[in-house]
Amino acid sequence: MTRVALALMAHPDDAEILCGGTLLLLVRRGWSVHIATMTAGDCGSAEHTADEISRIRRREAADAATLLGGTYHCLDVGDLNVFFNAEQQALVTRLFRQVRPNLVLTHSPDDYHLDHEGTSRLARAACFAAPVPLYRPDELLPLENVPALYYCDPIEGKDSMGYEVLPTTVVDVSAVIDAKTELLACHESQRNWLLKHHGVDEYLRAMRDWSAARGKQFGLAFGEGFRQHRGHGFPQTDVLRSELAIRS
Ligand SMILES: [Zn+2]
Repeated sequence: MTRVALALMAHPDDAEILCGGTLLLLVRRGWSVHIATMTAGDCGSAEHTADEISRIRRREAADAATLLGGTYHCLDVGDLNVFFNAEQQALVTRLFRQVRPNLVLTHSPDDYHLDHEGTSRLARAACFAAPVPLYRPDELLPLENVPALYYCDPIEGKDSMGYEVLPTTVVDVSAVIDAKTELLACHESQRNWLLKHHGVDEYLRAMRDWSAARGKQFGLAFGEGFRQHRGHGFPQTDVLRSELAIRS
């Protein structure tokens, strides 16, 4: 079986927070892992220009991907500018045909940030479009199959109405929680920006607290939750469960 995983997220650091442990475990099991972000995080600063912070955050994201043992891609559409439209669908589909994943992780369809929701919809659309030969044919071959698609937990495990979202698959990341923390620590600028914007230095602690809270619900020290997209045409086999999960 092909073993290529792609985490398509809105912003630099989303993948490390929401599925960094799972990506680490996949690398350890021999998977080729890619992280892609729709934006370079160009609005995530109180002190730099958009160009400066984009450069900094691209480098931080690339450093985290290198530490993970994976590859980083930036689609560079701009913060607060991620939308489900024809142009961005083509951009994401092209990435899928380059990376050729059989496992895709993305944001929850209903989340606190509209960039996250836009990314989620784009990931779903690209999973379906990338194997279609007549959809934007170019020099890249269409995918052979629709990849398995999983939605990570929404931020704080709740949807935009505040209702709790329960995962269908929980990955035990206890063995890699310190390595996951090191991945997130690569995003030093975001840690500083949150400190200024929110007034508390909770960046790493908040990630660990959430992983601990999700894990505790399922009898684990640390966990990451996912829901699999099981609509018509998508793989029905729970790839994450067969590779890594403890509950489905
Ligand atoms: Zn984000």
